[in-house]
Amino acid sequence: MRTRMCPTPTTFTVIERLMDPPPMTTVAQLESVLTCPECGHARRELMPTDACQFFYECERCKTVLRPKAGDCCVFCSYGSVKCPPVTARQGCACGNASR
Ligand SMILES: [Zn+2]
Repeated sequence: MRTRMCPTPTTFTVIERLMDPPPMTTVAQLESVLTCPECGHARRELMPTDACQFFYECERCKTVLRPKAGDCCVFCSYGSVKCPPVTARQGCACGNASR
């Protein structure tokens, strides 16, 4: 289910140089440490900025985590950092949250 692009270090450097981000920009944190409530296993995950991740499978105990009631994604429920839409503004744009 997880697609992961693995650019070579060389390619990554080139892309980074092309983008040349301004140093003062406040960027939403894109990494969150997900902690499995079943076995306590913590793993750092990259968060998609334009979508919310609704399911997450713990790599150790294979438990499929789902958001708690009122949370829009697994990062909001189990992560050290809430998902980018929530971090950037109030509420989540993904439409998963039940009001
Ligand atoms: Zn687990």
